[in-house]
Amino acid sequence: MNALLPTALVGSLPKPSWLSEPEKLWSPWKLSGDELAEGRLDALALAADEQRRAGLDIISDGEQTRQHFVTTFIEHLSGVDFDRRETVRIRNRYDASVPTVVGAVSREHPVFAEDAARLRALTSQPIKWALPGPMTMIDTLYDDHYRSREQLAWEFATILNQEAKELEAAGVDIIQFDEPAFNVFFDELKDWGVAALERATEGLRCETAVHICYGYGIKANTDWKATLGAEWRQYEESFPLLQRSTLDIVSLESHNSRVPVEVVELLRGKKVMLGAIDVASSDIESPEDVAATLRSALPYVDADKLIPSTNCGMAPLSRAVARDKMVALVQGAQLLRDELSAGSPGA
Ligand SMILES: [Zn+2]
Repeated sequence: MNALLPTALVGSLPKPSWLSEPEKLWSPWKLSGDELAEGRLDALALAADEQRRAGLDIISDGEQTRQHFVTTFIEHLSGVDFDRRETVRIRNRYDASVPTVVGAVSREHPVFAEDAARLRALTSQPIKWALPGPMTMIDTLYDDHYRSREQLAWEFATILNQEAKELEAAGVDIIQFDEPAFNVFFDELKDWGVAALERATEGLRCETAVHICYGYGIKANTDWKATLGAEWRQYEESFPLLQRSTLDIVSLESHNSRVPVEVVELLRGKKVMLGAIDVASSDIESPEDVAATLRSALPYVDADKLIPSTNCGMAPLSRAVARDKMVALVQGAQLLRDELSAGSPGA
């Protein structure tokens, strides 16, 4: 474990082809029943091992035990009818057929605590577990019960807080909430978005992170990115609020994106997970590419608060590409570590 520049993935890794169809989001499981339960945990062990062999410092679940980063969590809640579907616009970007909230939402059982305990048993390194954020959750549903995005988000925040406390008890060191919706709904972000996120983390003693990105490297997202102009300044909306929040770590995308790196200054004092790996391309970054992206942020974040990471999840990539990208991340971080210990960053 490197104390300086500890490396971590943002989230998903590709699943093995015997578990679900590769290079696809929402890919259906190939197993069922007890075989699926066992297969998911086998995949979790493989993902942890691949991260360890690549040399990552913080081990993530790689989202091996869930089909989708938002939907799988919601499937375990009551109050949502998955057979009653309506078409809505996801993050103002693309239409999707989504389940309907038909009654009060609640969580009857822990969702990921057993999986997290399994990951905890697999490694003595720090582990990170990702959950969807409240605003991103409500954006994947049609609400026919509360008819208030704010109220539904608040209910989800309470549920996420219960889940997060169980993950913490299972030994998770960092709980991360994925809030790509923070790059889209700026009025709600200010009105209640950050407050709902803080509610989800209330009372936790482990570290807490929020991941905000421009989405997986799928067509709807790359088309949307093409409309955002020469500079992507969406983070300027959320970062000042998060800098004043109780969250410990903020994860953003950087490498190959049009995000001006100086936006990181808006987070001064927080830990920053900086995306130094492009997940929308199968080209493997060189360690020098990774180091250059990380180095470019050093004027805006203290080196002891920088966590080299990926831009987003790697589920849509092939396993071989994901593996090579993990190695590039680790080697790039090491290049910068060597520079810093030589006392001449940027030289
Ligand atoms: Zn992301």
